[in-house]
Amino acid sequence: MAVVGVDFGTLHSKIGVARHRGIDIIVNEVSNRATPSLVAFGPKQRSIGESAKTQETSNFRNTIGCLKRLIGRTFQDPEIQIEKKYLNATLVDVSGTVGAEVSYLGEKQTFSATQLVAMYLGKLRDITSNELKTAVTDLVIAVPGWYTDVQRRALLDAASVAGLNALRLINDSTAVALGYGITKSDLPEPENPRNVMFVDVGHSSMSVTIIAFAKGQLTVKATAYDRHLGGRDVDYALLQYFAAEFKTKYKIDVLSSPKAMFRLAVGCERLKKVLSANSEAPLNVESIMNDIDASSKLSRETYEGLLTDVLSRVGTPIKQALAESGLTLEQIDSVELVGGTTRIPAVRAQIQDAVGGKPLSTTLNQDEAIARGATFACAMLSPTFRVRDFAVHDIAHYPIKVQWEPTPSDPDDDTELVVFPRGNGIPSTKVLTFYRKDSFDIEARYVNPTELPGGINPWIARFSAKSVPPDSKGDLTCVKLKTRLNLHGILSFEAAYTEEVEEKEEVPMEVDGADAAPPKKKKVVKKKEVPFVTGTSSLDNSIVENLKEQEAQMHAADKLVMDTEDRKNALEEYVYDTRGKLDDRYAAYVQAAEKVTLLGLLQDAEDWLYSEEGEDATKSAYVGKLDSLKVVGDPIVLRYRQYEDRPRSISELRASL
Ligand code: ATP
Ligand code: MG
Repeated sequence: MAVVGVDFGTLHSKIGVARHRGIDIIVNEVSNRATPSLVAFGPKQRSIGESAKTQETSNFRNTIGCLKRLIGRTFQDPEIQIEKKYLNATLVDVSGTVGAEVSYLGEKQTFSATQLVAMYLGKLRDITSNELKTAVTDLVIAVPGWYTDVQRRALLDAASVAGLNALRLINDSTAVALGYGITKSDLPEPENPRNVMFVDVGHSSMSVTIIAFAKGQLTVKATAYDRHLGGRDVDYALLQYFAAEFKTKYKIDVLSSPKAMFRLAVGCERLKKVLSANSEAPLNVESIMNDIDASSKLSRETYEGLLTDVLSRVGTPIKQALAESGLTLEQIDSVELVGGTTRIPAVRAQIQDAVGGKPLSTTLNQDEAIARGATFACAMLSPTFRVRDFAVHDIAHYPIKVQWEPTPSDPDDDTELVVFPRGNGIPSTKVLTFYRKDSFDIEARYVNPTELPGGINPWIARFSAKSVPPDSKGDLTCVKLKTRLNLHGILSFEAAYTEEVEEKEEVPMEVDGADAAPPKKKKVVKKKEVPFVTGTSSLDNSIVENLKEQEAQMHAADKLVMDTEDRKNALEEYVYDTRGKLDDRYAAYVQAAEKVTLLGLLQDAEDWLYSEEGEDATKSAYVGKLDSLKVVGDPIVLRYRQYEDRPRSISELRASL
């Protein structure tokens, strides 16, 4: 069974697979190790990943990125307004969640973010199964540690819609730490752990995690984030700067034209990368708008001036994480950098400043460390792989409480309890006790709504006990409720039961020749299940099944379009190839009349290919045409091959030496 780990990035995603030699990051259909996190729609088909990137400039309105930022959000979420800065597609409300309105197969259609992510995960699945030559179902997906219950559940739903089974959603920095720790053979004893700070600045978000490593284990000590700090903020600052410059220089308002803005943004990202290694960089954008070729340049100094706001925020999460860990800077053994934006020298300088000038380490593969770690996590959960034992002690970022209505008999009693405080281990199970007579409801919520991303609802889940069995003594019944923060970082109500203690007399065994021991009383705990239902933000099974079917249909339709294109190309190639060879390689094996017939057929086929009908025909039409050409062409090819393959005479062989 395939072992797969995915780093689902805002800009790009990477896929790791476990092989017997170790973990490899695989390449996509155009041999790139990172696949653009984009889904696009066209008149005939969807384009996902690289093909979406290729057509982005001409079809930006129907191309959707930032998928990771959209999933699990409502359309009203204030952070969706922020995402709009970076998106050209139209966002809309789709059944209470955010989605996009696109033009697909010639009509307006809407898809929820969950569906869009499912499409994208389906593409990653295809890339992987193409590489491994086997079906892919199980995988581990890395997510930001700041993802809440609703975002995690939406991503799991998306995986199901894509026919995938996410064995674990792992916090991305924890994945990096796992990949770092599991390969180290020199880790200290637990009393004196090695403390490492991981700093990841990606395209949209920054995270800082402090981990204590010891022999065979890692423990997350502290986490802190800036959910709105990444390379795209740098790109945006550059875009505003050049748009202002071009207003005076060329008298054009780039910001008034999405297309021009898009072209400039592409140029800005390129310039940004050049500036990471040079003190000055040029900017050239051909026909940006009104047939103007815009050009400019930027010095490192001016550039850094534009980034003042971004740079001034880099130190904050580092300081927060440090404070929360309770460690001093001296106790941090190393600072490891991850994520594309840590390549910017000024960002590095800020990080270094915040860690008191400590050296920064780039021993990890900045772009691939998360995917590698997620793949290790998958291997650890897979029955087919043996990985060295390594315990991962992750923690919850947001505290969770349960709430209930006061009971009439005890109106002044508490009505809530923090079950999983911040820093609680993941996974973790807690058994809560309630004294009740009738059916009752419990709700799980995040404790601090204000610390959640954007407008995310603090509500997590509801538990409703249907009926509570009466207590044998007529008192309130003691109901135990098993609550779990699972491996995905998701809360679930797992079981509800009553316990009754019965005393049983043990019948002593008669042993020959010995006196029978006096009868003993033994306590037996009898568990009785309490029937209950739960509600969460996950999609109902029936909806998932429905979306899965829709997805499978779109996937099959895309495949048909690609196969049709492939057959059309095959026909075209046959026409040109055969025509050329008739005068050359096949010349000695074709009769004059036969040649005339075949050339005529080839000409007909060519004319048809460029006619309105042949331009856009069905797969079977292209296959049929090619087959009919081959009826005449194949005997010629056969004669040629027979001659080529015939045993050579000794003199011929000598001559060829
Ligand atoms: P996130 O982790 O926020 O979801 P991501 O994982 O897609 O995003 P990364 O792949 O870590 O992001 O980093 C991509 C960002 O790094 C982009 O903004 C890209 O422009 C930037 N980047 C990549 N190389 C360089 C470079 N040499 N100089 C400056 N920025 C760079
Ligand atoms: Mg990332």
